[in-house]
Order: sequence, then C-alpha cells, then structure tokens
Amino acid sequence: MLRNTSHDDFNRRFGEPGWSVDVPFVCNTAVDFDRADVVVIGAGLTGLAAAEALALRGKKVLVIDRQGVGSGASGRNAGFCTISPSATARSVLLQYGEVSGKKYFDWFLRAAERVRERAEEDFSDIEWSQNGRASLALSAKQAESMRENWSIQHKLFKLPVQYLSRSEVERVAGGGSYYAAITDNVSGSLNPLKLVHSLALHARNAGACICEGVEATSVREVGSKVYIDCGSITLEANEVIIATDAYRSLQNTRTAGLYVPLASYMIATESLSEEVCSLLFPDKRVASTSRNFANYFRIDARRRLLFGGRRTLSSNTPLSDIASELHDAAGKLFDSVHIPNVDKCWGGLLSFTQDRTPVVGGLSERIYYAGGYCGHGVPTALACGEMLAERILGADAVDCPFYQSRLKGSVKMQMAKVLLPAISRYYRAVDAIN
Ligand SMILES: Cc1cc2nc3c(=O)[nH]c(=O)nc-3n(C[C@H](O)[C@H](O)[C@H](O)COP(=O)(O)OP(=O)(O)OC[C@H]3O[C@@H](n4cnc5c(N)ncnc54)[C@H](O)[C@@H]3O)c2cc1C
Repeated sequence: MLRNTSHDDFNRRFGEPGWSVDVPFVCNTAVDFDRADVVVIGAGLTGLAAAEALALRGKKVLVIDRQGVGSGASGRNAGFCTISPSATARSVLLQYGEVSGKKYFDWFLRAAERVRERAEEDFSDIEWSQNGRASLALSAKQAESMRENWSIQHKLFKLPVQYLSRSEVERVAGGGSYYAAITDNVSGSLNPLKLVHSLALHARNAGACICEGVEATSVREVGSKVYIDCGSITLEANEVIIATDAYRSLQNTRTAGLYVPLASYMIATESLSEEVCSLLFPDKRVASTSRNFANYFRIDARRRLLFGGRRTLSSNTPLSDIASELHDAAGKLFDSVHIPNVDKCWGGLLSFTQDRTPVVGGLSERIYYAGGYCGHGVPTALACGEMLAERILGADAVDCPFYQSRLKGSVKMQMAKVLLPAISRYYRAVDAIN
C-alpha cells in the first residue's frame, strides 16, 4: 500500500503550524501486514499513547493515519499541559457528587503529572517546563464566580490550587488589568509537535507499526473480528481504537452525536524582548482568561508570544483575518505593551462535548473511542489512550469516573452542529454581561 506523508490537506485548511522538530519521525514505509491484534485509527496523542502501551505488552499493533503523525490537533496545539478539566467545579459537583467529583479532578491531576513524568524520564527534548498556570478574571463578576469555583476545587476536591485577589495577581501576570486568578504550580508547557513525534518513536520502538497516508473509510464488525476498509485494502483486527478526535471521516462507527467539532486558532508573534516577557509572564506561567470565549497565552522556548482563542465558532474566516483578530485581542488584553508582529497563524479542529467532559469508552465490545477533550487534550489524550489500552489488555474496571462501557451520542449534540452560530451568539452575550 502506498503511503503519502504530506500534511497538505490540514495545512491548506488550517495553516502550517508554527512548531518544528529537529529530527522528524520516520514512519513505516508500508502496511506490511493486514491482520493485527489492534488497529488504531489516528496517529495523534490518543492513538500513539494507546499503541505504545499495547505494543509494550506484546500486542501486534498497527496505527494508520490518513495524513501523518501529529497532523491533527496533537501537532498543532499550544502545548499547555494543565491540571484542570474544561468543566467547572460546580458542574462536576452537581453531576458527579462529592466522592466521584474528587475522583474526576484527581484523574486530570494524575494525567498532567504523567506527562511531567514522561517528559522527565522519556522525552528529554520536548521543551517541557513546569512553571504553573494562571486562570485570570477580567471583571469583578468573573472574580466572584472564580472564587466559588476555587473554593469547591480546593476545599472539597483538595486540588493544589490557589486563589489570588486583585492586589496579588501581578505576581503571576502583568501587562493587563486582572481582578483575580486561580493558579497552580503543577501545570506546565511543552512543544506539542516534539511530544507527538517522541511518542511515535517510543510506540514504534515498542513494536507498533505506524503508517501514514492510509485512510480508514469504514469499520465493520463481523463475528469476533473487526474489518477496517482503507481504499483498496481491508485490515482485520480483534479490536479497534478510533482515535480520530474531531477529524472523523468514518462511516458505521456510531460516533455521531458524541461531540461537536470546532475550529480553534492561535498566533505566534516575533520574539518578545526580555523586559516585556518578564512583565507579561513574571514567573513564565501558562495563562488563560476565564470567559466562555477565552484567550490562552504563554511564551515559548523562542520567547514568542503564543496567543489563541476566538470570538466566534465559525471556521470560514480567512487565516489573515484571524491573525489580525488575535493580534488585536492580544493588544487589548496587554494594553500597556507593544505586541510584536504575527510570525505565524494556524489552527486545527478540536472537539467539544455537551458537559465538557471527555468521551471515552466502548462503542461495542471490540470498538473503542476516545476524544472530546474540549481544548485540554494534551494530558487527557495521553491518559485516555493508555486507559483504552488497559481496557483492551483485560482490565475489568477502569479507574475513571467518566469512562463509559457503552458510549451513546445524543440528538442534542447532533443539533448543536447546526445551531453553532446561535450558540456562539449566546456565549458572546454571556461574556459581554460578565
Ligand atoms: C489550535 C489548537 C490549540 C490547542 N491547544 C491545546 C493546548 O494548549 N493544550 C491542550 O491540552 N489541548 C489543546 N488543544 C486540544 C488538543 O490538541 C487535542 O485535544 C488533542 O491533540 C487531540 O488528540 P487526538 O490524538 O485525540 O486527535 P488528533 O491529534 O486530532 O489526531 C487525530 C488523527 O486522526 C487522523 N484521522 C482522522 N480521520 C482518519 C481516518 N478516517 N483514517 C485515518 N486517520 C484519520 C487525523 O489525520 C489525525 O492525525 C488544542 C487544539 C487546537 C486545535
């Protein structure tokens, strides 16, 4: 089977990501077997984490990707690795209660700690730094709800998070006007393309076969086997992991209604001066605002300002307009400094779920899925990939409060795709009121 290693489709649609790797990962040149214990569809963080864990335990694993390793969101994101999920503490408390709610937050904390462990032990060159995170309130009203959120996280769920009042925020974030912050010192950042390439290398060294340019078009279960149609050939497996997140183009997999795909974009500016860096990021934390249409920002190893997030959910805007919109938003937020020109602007697809909780589990006895990380996919994808591997390797119970042995999409989520413009207007209005 031919392979095509170009990432051109995604680059044309979302721009070329502003990340580079010194030594790009070299894939297997062809699918040299068409029967595997497990076929993994998608060579992003989810698929590769699962593949590595399975191959290490002796499974014959084949990973296919219709473009290439890290061509999806895994090689295009901002490299934040945070301990916090997308859902608020209040909503988790309401949905899961106190005991499972604590397990929920502990799961995310462990996921971020696992990335740190792997960065320190296995992935030495991924530009990992553990400088913590700050979530910033832009109004008194946001500060109030932030304090409530913090008090549940800290007092009830015992998370290592701090609340900073207005007079204390400048210790962690400058150049703008902030009313409060929630901080932690466990979160960190990394170069996402280097992470996904390192993970691919580890998966391959463990014995997994990774093939680029191979697109699955449908997945069928017949008796005790699963067949994956990929153009002219059909692969056979005992189990399949669908790790395509928001880039799904498969039929017959029942993933419709599990999540809504959304486009998200970011810019990297030319390098900031040392002075501006230490004003904006006194202790080099990753940071975000706490609106529905949040902005997230940090400096990277080359002192570029990375700034992401948008005022709309539409994916039809030209890249040059998005670059100006994000540059303007950075200028407004950091109103006391000059923001250098945009060096690169790019984006990708990420997936959102109804309750902002990832969807991970079985679509059937033999087909597994994980995705819907709501913008927090770096630690979550790795942890979900490993969790699915554990499940396939025979773990009866999975220690995760949101793991579902039978995933089911909802009609509401299918409708949400159509209603995106109205949803977008609603959340913008809420942000304006707050
Ligand atoms: C702009 C942006 C910024 C982000 N910033 C952050 C951040 O700072 N921190 C954070 O934690 N998260 C962030 N995220 C989210 C995070 O990147 C994702 O949640 C995560 O990478 C998803 O990983 P994945 O492996 O599940 O999916 P992906 O990395 O999207 O991989 C899916 C793969 O499946 C392949 N594929 C799709 N269909 C098929 C098919 N039919 N056959 C074969 N292959 C197929 C695709 O080619 C792709 O390579 C961001 C996302 C975006 C878009």
